[in-house]
Parts: sequence; structure tokens; C-alpha cells
Amino acid sequence: MEPSPIRKGGAGPFAGEQKQVNLVSGQYAWNQPGNSPQPAIAATEERQLQIWLTPHGFLKAALENNATAKKGSGGTVVSFTLGKFQVNGTIDSQNMVTRTETWLPNPVLGDMPVETDYSGYKDFNGVKFPTAIVQKQGGFPVLNLSVTDVRANPGLVLSVAAAVQAAKAPPVTVTSEKMADGVWFLAGGTHNSVLVEFPDYAVMIESPLNDARAAAVLDQARKLIPEKPIKYLINTHNHFDHAGGIRYFVAEGATVITQQANKPFYEQAWKAPRALDPDRLSKNPKKASFITFKDKYVLSDAGRSLEIYHVDGDNHNADISIVYLPKEKILVEADDFTPAPPNAPPTGPRAHAATVFLYGYVQKLNLDVHTIAPLHGFVVPFSVMQKVATTEVSSLSR
Ligand SMILES: [Zn+2]
Repeated sequence: MEPSPIRKGGAGPFAGEQKQVNLVSGQYAWNQPGNSPQPAIAATEERQLQIWLTPHGFLKAALENNATAKKGSGGTVVSFTLGKFQVNGTIDSQNMVTRTETWLPNPVLGDMPVETDYSGYKDFNGVKFPTAIVQKQGGFPVLNLSVTDVRANPGLVLSVAAAVQAAKAPPVTVTSEKMADGVWFLAGGTHNSVLVEFPDYAVMIESPLNDARAAAVLDQARKLIPEKPIKYLINTHNHFDHAGGIRYFVAEGATVITQQANKPFYEQAWKAPRALDPDRLSKNPKKASFITFKDKYVLSDAGRSLEIYHVDGDNHNADISIVYLPKEKILVEADDFTPAPPNAPPTGPRAHAATVFLYGYVQKLNLDVHTIAPLHGFVVPFSVMQKVATTEVSSLSR
């Protein structure tokens, strides 16, 4: 549930209670919060690995994969490799698995440590199981479980639906929509980018997700503006789904423009090794160059002008920025307002609060906005955002 007061943060905001049921069986992964299974192909590798990171899964995998053992700080450290993944586990003097660790590839953090601590072992009808489970990814807690009941072999039947078996990873597609002379909205997936043409170069606003998305977005840009280099990549904020493709543009020689708080974070994160899933920048190493600003940055050249504003106090992310094209009266924004498709479920309180805040901020900045180019969803007139921002959330969620 959304806590009150509402927290900042990524992921889809929601109203009411959200239940997640995430499954994996063999090579198939899917989500099934309701009756119909939704394939989750991209999650398969991690979900398989998560089984081997549990105490009982770890012991089974160690037995089957020629594990080695050595003395470590908290007991005996048992290690094995599964494909490209190394898995280590600590077994204490009571013969309990107290910790497992591995590394998963992440577009921002590279080979990202995944550490899980198990404590408070209790005997549940003959099965010893930890009552406290904490998992950290990249050093931050992502899961904190208190276990109150354990049942061994409860007869779970997992049948993989035909739709899940037949599902294929969707191809990366990039569509382009001309918004004004020299301004294109690049969509076709879950995240958008905006391409702006200057007299001697081009500017890309946002490179989301990962290398694959970035490569497809850059390809589209080269088709639209074949003769000019992408000189600048503007990054709106540091949430991983909006920052995972920045490195690709660095490898292509673009300078990154972002709010000043983001630079030290990216520089630190990008130092990590990337052996599990090498990206373009790790294969063609290059020092990233940044232009940073505190409140505002203006890019102006021969009649084309683009303004970047830090949204101070933003509800969604502290270091987020918006981009405004004054001549075209276009506002590019991420996550504070995502136009809802027809018949969409009601907007959650977190999304609504972010839209209200951004709407007020745009007025405070005195920006004359006609069109919203959102980095999720589709292009809409500013009046659509205005309507959401000035409607009570209670009536939106009915
Ligand atoms: Zn975000």
C-alpha cells in the first residue's frame, strides 16, 4: 500500500493494495496477480538464481555443482558457479546457512552484489528455517521478511500456461513523431526520448533502460538527422529505468547534461566491473564528460533554445529536471505526470501528488507550456495535465 505521507520513488504508483505473485518454473517466468498469467521473460534468470540463494536451494545447488569450501569470517564459505554466476554461502558453527551472495548484471551498477542474510533459525515441525531474511542489492535493502510460518512440501503444483511457454521477448522498437521543426518524440516502448536538432549537432533528451534501448534510439536519431553528431545527452533523473542507457551515449561521444547531484553518483556507479554483461562503454572505455547545473541550464544556438530546470522539492525524485523548449512551448518531463490511456485504472495518490507539484512548479517558473512530451505515455496538450492536477485525488480514484 502507499504509505501516508506518500514516499518519493520509482515504480508504478498505485491506489489501494497491490499484491504481487511472481513465479518461475524451469526456463519460464511469469506474474500472476490475477487469473491470467503475464509472461516475465526478462525476470527468468534472476528468479532462477534467487532459488539458489535460499538456504535450502543453496545447499542443493552446492551439492550438484562441485562446490569448494574454505574458512571465512562467519564460518565456512562454500562457493560454486552456475553458468556465469558465482554463488558464495556462509555456513556457521551450527551448520546453518547464514548468508549467501552473488552478482547480477545491472545497466547502472554493473556487476551488482546481491547479498542475503538469514538469521533467527527456528524449528518448524522438523524443518529448520530462518525467521528473518534481508536481501541487499547494490548495498541497499530490497527485501526484509519476518517469517512466522513454514510448511514443508505443501504440494505446490506449478503448471506453465501455454501463453507463457509461447511468449517471446518483445523486439526493441522506436517510433518517431515530429512535434515541431527539429523536434521528434521517440516512443515505441515503455520509455520515451526526445530528439532536438541544433544547427551543428543534435541533442537527445533521456536514454532509458539499457544499451539495447539506447542503440535503437540512436539508430532512429541517425535516420532523422544523418549528418549531425549527438553532442549532448540530457538525463532527467537518476532512477535506474531512466539512467540505464546513458553509458551508451557516453561511448558514442556525447556529453551528459544532468543536475549536479547526479554526477558523483554516476561516476561512482560506473567504476564497477561489468564482466557479467559487458556494455558498449565497457568494451570501448572512455572517460565520461558531464555538464552539471544546480537550478537551471540553457542550451542556446542560432535561434534554437532549450532550457533545463531542476524541480526543487519534487515529489518523485530529489534530483529530477524538466526540459522546456520556449519557442515550441513543449515541456519534457519524466514520471511526475504520465497521461493515462483510455479506460486506465485510477491514478494513485503518489502519482497525483507528483502531478500537482509539477503543475505548481511550472506555474512558479512562469513557463508557457502548450504541449507535454512525457517520457512515459504519449504526447498530450498541457490542458490534460492541468485537469489532472486540479482534480481532487478522491474523485480520481473512484
Ligand atoms: Zn523516476
